[in-house]
Amino acid sequence: MKESQICLGCWEHMHMPTVIRGPFSFLFKSFGIKRSQMHPNLCTYCESNFAKIMKHKQIPVSTTILFADIRGYTDLSQQIEGAKVNELLNSFYDRCSAAIWEEDGIVNKFIGDAVLAIFNFPLIRKDHVQNAVSAAVQLQKNCQHLKEEIGLSDIHTLGVGIGIHTGECYMGEVGTTYKDFTAIGPVVNLTSRLQGAAGVGEIMVTEEVFNEVKEQFPDAQKKTLTLKGINNPVTGYVLT
Ligand SMILES: [Zn+2]
Repeated sequence: MKESQICLGCWEHMHMPTVIRGPFSFLFKSFGIKRSQMHPNLCTYCESNFAKIMKHKQIPVSTTILFADIRGYTDLSQQIEGAKVNELLNSFYDRCSAAIWEEDGIVNKFIGDAVLAIFNFPLIRKDHVQNAVSAAVQLQKNCQHLKEEIGLSDIHTLGVGIGIHTGECYMGEVGTTYKDFTAIGPVVNLTSRLQGAAGVGEIMVTEEVFNEVKEQFPDAQKKTLTLKGINNPVTGYVLT
């Protein structure tokens, strides 16, 4: 990923050159504006202000949501020592972030052994569905040898499952005492459930996502899924 001197979010939305790297970044730092942890080419001003504006207006944003998690993590974390668990999570987070940032998505949250990424906000990309799928393919590649690389033996099962869905979400801050900027709505819930249905090494997507990328995945497997908390069966595709 190419590191930008100015915040791409501020530039794309407001044509404001917020300096986040290099000699002049100290000026912005003195006002409390620094690089965002969600994406190295965004700033903390974007994070908080976009969230406030979006919450106020309650405008749905077309986004693609990606959830990924480590399969076998709960069992594994009970079998290996704490330091090793930390090493595993750190390696996983780094690999996820690299793949997501490369495609202009933001790493919105790490929740234990899972990651939530958002595409098309605040960096607006017309191919955000494609971007999310490319990030997922790269993420699986990055994590393929994770187990060997952190020195775990063959007796341990370890792999990553990914779910992707696209649609309209509300972006904003939730919570009053602890404010948390995130995407809200049925699209997020469905993506989370879909991810739960993906096996080790799999990328499970909805029909809406599949329709945008089907030429690249002629061997995708169609599945009818019954997902917890979702009333009707959902058509999912495993991208292979
Ligand atoms: Zn910014």
